[in-house]
Amino acid sequence: MTEPSLKGKRVLITGGGRGIGRSAALAFASAGASVAVSARSAAEIEQVAAEVSALGPKGLAVLCDVTDPVQVDAMVARTVEEFGGLDILINNAGAGESHKIIGHPNDLWHRMININLNSVYYVSRAAVPHMVRQNWGRVIIVASIASKAGSKYMAAYTASKHGVLGLTRVLAVELVSHNITVNAICPGYVDTPMTDSTVDNIVAFTGMPANKARQTLENLSPQARLMDPQEVADLAVYLASDAARGINGQAINLDGGMVMF
Ligand code: NDP
Repeated sequence: MTEPSLKGKRVLITGGGRGIGRSAALAFASAGASVAVSARSAAEIEQVAAEVSALGPKGLAVLCDVTDPVQVDAMVARTVEEFGGLDILINNAGAGESHKIIGHPNDLWHRMININLNSVYYVSRAAVPHMVRQNWGRVIIVASIASKAGSKYMAAYTASKHGVLGLTRVLAVELVSHNITVNAICPGYVDTPMTDSTVDNIVAFTGMPANKARQTLENLSPQARLMDPQEVADLAVYLASDAARGINGQAINLDGGMVMF
């Protein structure tokens, strides 16, 4: 396959300061696209924006808490103002917290729905009109295999990630006549700071040594490994490319074969 060229495309990546979002920012920049990264940690997004610029295309850091629709509208407006438009949206910002269902705290439930589901609605709603106007666009949602399967103690995260698949499918059919595709990527455990926190939690709850806890997560995949954030980034670049124009409304697993539907 030839490397997709996204020269001249303008990308907005939420949660672009570390982990999957950072890898995606560098992958899109390597494909020639200008990249705006947003998150709440200024130092992280400024660093990534500088790394994007060092690769050639324009990098932009936009501070935003994506659970706040007012900040989201301002983030999209700022990106469009700086870049002159917006072609590709990567809804990536997210967080994972776990709790058993007995005694499950309401605030944890609402935090997960806010960061993993409501934010995707707010950001997509703000970004899509710019794509409709130019009759071309790509929306990519970093979902999870928790969008498809349940695992214990993950009620709120799993419900939020199932929810984004519903939104993916609706946007895919609603926007198809505007030459916009909407797809979700569903990774298994990825080697990012989020997974480092999961390892810390397992250690705290079970007393298991950290290397054992990490191995437990690795062994959930038939490939007995964590996915690399670069793999998610490469799939996102492909989905944004012209070669993937026929892929719409899909939820693609990237987990070494752990979930097969
Ligand atoms: P990280 O924790 O490494 O990075 C998360 C990013 O999201 C950070 O840049 C963080 O920045 C940002 N973020 C979190 N909350 C907010 C908020 N309220 N507003 C704006 N930005 C926010 O996570 P990953 O890279 O691992 O995960 C990225 C996505 O991939 C998430 O949606 C996650 O659910 C999904 N995923 C991850 C898997 C994994 O194993 N790691 C597996 C499957 C899916 P800041 O805190 O500064 O705001």
